[in-house]
Amino acid sequence: MDLFEYQARDLFAKHGVPVLAGEVIDTPEAAREVTERLGGKAVVKAQVKVGGRGKAGGVKLAGSPDEAVEKAGQILGMDIKGHTVHKVMLAQTADIKEEYYVSYLLDRTNRTFLAMASVEGGMDIEEVAATKPEALAKVPVDANEGVTEAKAREIIEAAKFPAEIADGMVEVLQSLWVTFIKEDALLVEVNPLIKSGEGKLIAIDGKVSLDDNADFRQPEHAALEDKAAANPLEAAAKAKGLNYVKLDGQVGIIGNGAGLVMSTLDVVAYAGEKHAGVKPANFLDIGGGASAEVMANGLEIILGDPDVKSVFVNVFGGITACDEVAKGIVQALELLKDKGEEVTKPLVVRLDGNNAELGRKILSDANHPLVQRVDTMDGAADKAAELAAAAAK
Ligand code: GDP
Ligand code: MN
Repeated sequence: MDLFEYQARDLFAKHGVPVLAGEVIDTPEAAREVTERLGGKAVVKAQVKVGGRGKAGGVKLAGSPDEAVEKAGQILGMDIKGHTVHKVMLAQTADIKEEYYVSYLLDRTNRTFLAMASVEGGMDIEEVAATKPEALAKVPVDANEGVTEAKAREIIEAAKFPAEIADGMVEVLQSLWVTFIKEDALLVEVNPLIKSGEGKLIAIDGKVSLDDNADFRQPEHAALEDKAAANPLEAAAKAKGLNYVKLDGQVGIIGNGAGLVMSTLDVVAYAGEKHAGVKPANFLDIGGGASAEVMANGLEIILGDPDVKSVFVNVFGGITACDEVAKGIVQALELLKDKGEEVTKPLVVRLDGNNAELGRKILSDANHPLVQRVDTMDGAADKAAELAAAAAK
């Protein structure tokens, strides 16, 4: 999960990375009081999860509370690279003498953590890496040793940071490392880390990406989720403990187990080539040992996606017995009918493995007009793609 700048700033502050005071607002008028609290002037910053806000006009200085209201009004509602600005952060203005870059990230290729640092801060770091690679220092950090003082000095030397800020930089690098480790982050980046007129180092922009796999030991991270931006179906699936992912095609896919679901995506995309290029619209993994109830929940979510024109339920019974899955399908159709959300989209069901015969019989007996059984995976994928293509016409 990527965080907003103000959330990154809060985590920096919590772990001792120097930041300036700031507050988040979502109406222009609220800028007045906040700016007064910040000492009468402020920098107004769009809160969107994308870089280059400054160049796009999403970072503006305001010399008075009135001006802050005006600037906040200009920035709120702005579109920055496809992201609408719903919140702005007002922060104390900084007296910038120098702009540096520092980050830690997980370097999967080299199976290590990596520190990156540069005296060319403030700019787009990808551009620095491309045009002046020698100006971007990359220093591996051992996960067990972390950023010791010696490691911090190694990074400082590699980045050619000036001697007069070295001691301050050691502290920043170490507190940023604590942030990275304690918060189970995949990335912490400060760009720019500035040297102020008084010679102090201050993080005035932050980017943090948290590792969702660590959510179980980071209960506080749930509150950082941007509920407004989350896809409502993804949120509903998460609440029910289901793995649902939205894609951009027309065939809804339900399967059991990640491996089967992934290969189902492939066969549907392949079958779609013959049927107007239809593709998977989403996928939902009901997991191993799924009950009728889980199946019903899954179907409700998949059918709730307006892009879905047909649904392919592909189950290979192992721990999950096919009769349970079949019961789930039948129950889901009844449940949705009772709710007044009668299903109008065709379902293609392929059941194989544990209790397949029983499951197929349950479907045949229910004799639902929209449910078709196809007993091979390729055949079922082809049928689902054909139905989606016909419905999309
Ligand atoms: P980004 O463009 O999304 O990376 O947003 P930043 O927060 O990094 O801001 C972009 C640039 O605006 C920075 O590199 C600074 O040069 C400038 N900036 C940000 N805050 C201040 C501030 O308080 N005072 C001044 N003078 N410049 C600022
Ligand atoms: Mn920046």
